[in-house]
Amino acid sequence: MQVTNTLTKVRKLQLLSPVATLNLNLPAMPVEILYSPFPGVSTSVEGQGKERAVRIRDERRRPFLEANREPLALRNTFLGLRNVEEAANFFLHVGHFQMPKETFSESVITGADLYLWQEVIGSICVQGWLKEEPLLRTIKGKKQIAGVQFAVPGAWRDLLNASSTKEQRWLAGHIDEFSIAVSNPRPDERPTLRATIHAYSVLETILAVTYAERLCGIKRALCSFPDCNTYYEVRSKHPRQYCSEECGHKALMRKRRSEQRAERRK
Ligand SMILES: [Zn+2]
Repeated sequence: MQVTNTLTKVRKLQLLSPVATLNLNLPAMPVEILYSPFPGVSTSVEGQGKERAVRIRDERRRPFLEANREPLALRNTFLGLRNVEEAANFFLHVGHFQMPKETFSESVITGADLYLWQEVIGSICVQGWLKEEPLLRTIKGKKQIAGVQFAVPGAWRDLLNASSTKEQRWLAGHIDEFSIAVSNPRPDERPTLRATIHAYSVLETILAVTYAERLCGIKRALCSFPDCNTYYEVRSKHPRQYCSEECGHKALMRKRRSEQRAERRK
């Protein structure tokens, strides 16, 4: 199965190598995001209260996951999930949120982690990749740099530390797996380039589409209407508050109603 993105033009691909960040300045080219989950999955909801979670199991006998789901739609649906039941239904169709450690195994995501991931991804959509800072430890009474960590709210820290190295690279804005293909034109035509980013989980696909968007200079903001989780594209310099006229209208109605209630109480 393959999921391909609507094509976007990208000027610069940034590849993190073990020794240095390599900036490849390339001609603008379409980018394709190829999400290849392995088998189909089954999902179930388990636990109580804060422990409620979705368990996602590989099912060899199930058919492969449904094709032609767009990465952008995948991210938007993920950001709009409201509870573990909706999440279980979503992952049933799209596969593991994070790659299980072994193939033909299972992964678990708690409701609490789901909401934290929505915050992390939403924040990346609006503010960009996570920044890193030195990790300081007091060794023999002296503060020393013991490594690097993401400069993020404390609540995110465990979640990010438990992520794979590949996911952590992604979260800092570095892709480590892409390929560029050259078309094979007729002798009188110029060859064209096409990049493919490979993703193996829902999270990687979401990060890949966000990467492609940011390279294209697309900026997003969260709709101000409290019940809406839409990250709309910021197109003009005039700031707006809502993702759509519909949300703007609903917000206005809500404001009027509360004003009327306040008026009546006088
Ligand atoms: Zn909205």
